[in-house]
Amino acid sequence: MYTSMKAVAMSAAVLAGVSTSSWAQQPAANLDGQLPGLVETYKGLHSHPELSHHEEHTASLLAVELRKAGYTVAEHIGRYPDGSQAFGVVGLLKNGVGPTLLIRADMDALPIVEETGVTYASRVRTKNAAGQEVGVMHACGHDVHTTVLIGTARALATMKDHWHGTLMLVGQPAEETIDGAKAMLADHVYERFGTPDMAIALHDTYLHAAGTVGVVAGPALASSTSIDVTMRGIGGHGSAPQLGKDPIVMAAEFINQIQTIVSRQEDPRDPAVVTVGDIHGGTKRNIIPDEVKMELTNRSFSDKSRQIIIDGIRRSARGIAIAAGVPEDRMPIVTVRDEEYAPVLYNDPALTARVKTALVGALGAGKVVDDQPIMGSEDFGNFGLDNRKIPVAMFWLGAMDPARFAAAEAAGKFLPGMHTNHFEPLPEPTLKTGVAAMTAAAVALLQP
Ligand SMILES: [Zn+2]
Ligand SMILES: [Zn+2]
Repeated sequence: MYTSMKAVAMSAAVLAGVSTSSWAQQPAANLDGQLPGLVETYKGLHSHPELSHHEEHTASLLAVELRKAGYTVAEHIGRYPDGSQAFGVVGLLKNGVGPTLLIRADMDALPIVEETGVTYASRVRTKNAAGQEVGVMHACGHDVHTTVLIGTARALATMKDHWHGTLMLVGQPAEETIDGAKAMLADHVYERFGTPDMAIALHDTYLHAAGTVGVVAGPALASSTSIDVTMRGIGGHGSAPQLGKDPIVMAAEFINQIQTIVSRQEDPRDPAVVTVGDIHGGTKRNIIPDEVKMELTNRSFSDKSRQIIIDGIRRSARGIAIAAGVPEDRMPIVTVRDEEYAPVLYNDPALTARVKTALVGALGAGKVVDDQPIMGSEDFGNFGLDNRKIPVAMFWLGAMDPARFAAAEAAGKFLPGMHTNHFEPLPEPTLKTGVAAMTAAAVALLQP
């Protein structure tokens, strides 16, 4: 066992370019040869991003590559609540008796006009669901994730004497809209292809240089709850507010008052966020409108704080309307959008510890950092099913140019992050480390 684990760590180290010892003869060493091809694949994906629900070509490319690597592949997995088909991909590789490991990569891009200036930048424009023209950009690095999955698939297919069990590789659509994992589960992905014993994933990050990975045990990413609030009033002439009920003033009070939910109603030892990210009301300076619509996001690590925030929002909205004298039939409408809910991403501590040991073996202890939880959200946790039935773990993959990262750090700054038009992963070292890390983690977990 020790010898085999050591061999695996060394093979992964070769892949990561950490060592050039005689282990270069090991199967994984061949994979260094696939790096230029992987970089090309990445650049191709990067310049052809597809929005959530539209990942047709990305999914098809992934399916072709997994088939070429020897996997049994199924496409068009997933069904959304409106009945439309999703572009989920499942690739299976059975290799004797052992556990089943799910490795997930998400594939969708964001409605952002890319401004990185790289030669392979996206120039794609499309219409969003509302019919507006938008740019499309892999601003969250899901092209990195898809490419790393391809590299990992190839690596593991050539290392079958180092692992035992079943690999279940998942290309997931619609992460950014938080409905892709749910769509795959609703399409009975586990009933059809087997229920995994554990699930792992990685996500790239601007918070680490390429070559470095980050690990968090326990709650790693917060739950996300979308809440819509409509403040309703009674419209009228801007010169005669006494004849109406002004929803703009009520919305202003509401936005200020809900800042005290986190600071005064919720337990400060249990972090949470409430943000109003969108507000619309009115058409002209001298008209009091009938209503103001707001879109809120709530991030929490516990069901308790999530509920405190939802209840607080309902009370504040209603209380402000009552104080303004709004009639009962014009009370605010507060809607919790369950279809956009993402649960807490809870990295199973035991699974995370095993993954971390594998990462240290592959990359060296100095390249594996203990990270803090963040208030961002992910839908990967859905693959763990309710009540954390299946242990899951996601780790961070540093994606920034090390020299630029060090310069920014020295200046006390960050490089542009995910979801910005300047987010720029450095392809080769990021992909190399991603494949080495994911391959090592998979081999460590796929032991009888
Ligand atoms: Zn994202
Ligand atoms: Zn993402």
